Amino acid sequence: MPFSSLSKELETRAEQGLLRRRRTLDTPQSPHITVDGKPYLAFCSNDYLGLANHPQLIAALQQGAQQWGVGAGAAHLVSGHFEPHHRLEHQLAAFVGKPAALLFSTGYMANLGVVQGLVGKGDTVFADKLNHASLNDAMLLSRAETKRYRHGDMAQLAQLLAQTQSGRKLVITDAVFSMDGDIAPLREMLALCEQHDAWLYVDDAHGFGVLGERGCGSLSHFGIASQRIVYMATLGKAAGVSGAFVAAEQVVVDTLVNHAHSYVYTTATPPALSVALSQSLELIGQGEALRVHLKQLVEQLRDGLSGLPWQLMPSDTAIQPLLIGDNLQALKLSESLRERGIWVAAIRPPTVPQGTARLRITLSAAHSAVDVNQLVGALHELAC
Ligand SMILES: *Cc1c(COP(=O)(O)O)cnc(C)c1O
Repeated sequence: MPFSSLSKELETRAEQGLLRRRRTLDTPQSPHITVDGKPYLAFCSNDYLGLANHPQLIAALQQGAQQWGVGAGAAHLVSGHFEPHHRLEHQLAAFVGKPAALLFSTGYMANLGVVQGLVGKGDTVFADKLNHASLNDAMLLSRAETKRYRHGDMAQLAQLLAQTQSGRKLVITDAVFSMDGDIAPLREMLALCEQHDAWLYVDDAHGFGVLGERGCGSLSHFGIASQRIVYMATLGKAAGVSGAFVAAEQVVVDTLVNHAHSYVYTTATPPALSVALSQSLELIGQGEALRVHLKQLVEQLRDGLSGLPWQLMPSDTAIQPLLIGDNLQALKLSESLRERGIWVAAIRPPTVPQGTARLRITLSAAHSAVDVNQLVGALHELAC
């Protein structure tokens, strides 16, 4: 029976401390949640600005549903492209300083669509080894040749680019690495792309709304701009809603509208979501106080956790992974925190490399200094 081979695989995973299971939230996303009936202080969402349950966004979504209904009813190229989608695309393009933008249903789909839409057989994709799973899947789907370089290793990237003579070249990278929290050296990467006539595709899932002037993201953080940069950010993290967008030259967007399968062959997101997202963009632009508070929490956490037997990985962002190493030990630590009413996710292979299991602590502007103190205190107790 095929079932027995499936069960065996799951058993093996369980023995290695790799079995995954879901927990059910009984309250809206926030630092203080109820999970399976019990209250927790949580440090594992990507809701970096605390917008996922913001009253103004709830009101905008309600108003959007009132005016536009619930479903889009068709793909964008058929009859599912609504005025709120169109308006949001213009707002997003202006916000990040690009001529055009295109909405996707999720970040995962945006990555599949962009890489598959821009390169194919005979082309080459260059990728950081720690890129997000969706970028890895995207390059396989594209059927382009793939060359992966060691995390952040610009010398190796330069070498690989120099070795490639024909076809389109596309360098793809997380801007803020999702499991590490460090920032890709985008300025150096852009220089290499200019030197070798390559495109740079930047996945800013964890930078948009948080980094840069007015939360414009990683390009603003580095003060870089170029026609050869294709920019992508997700709208379900700091923006607090759902979806993703790609911002680029008009010709790139037109190409994706025509060639990106995950854009063409899928139902558009409900237009009401775009109404909420336009409001979210306003809040992000005005959210300097939230970003300053978030930065203070990051510093408080890093100061508080120095001197533990486990090291925080080098990161200035809201993603603060505590490196544990062993899978079972990481799980155990996460369990012990949970017994104390604190929820931090243990991240294990294959999401991260073997031997680098970690607690992925994420901070949000919705956390208070008291919340962070509670986590710091609990980890110090558990270290004894
Ligand atoms: C979350 C994430 C995605 C996927 O975005 P979704 O909208 O959740 O599908 C893509 N890239 C990175 C780096 C991410 O962290």
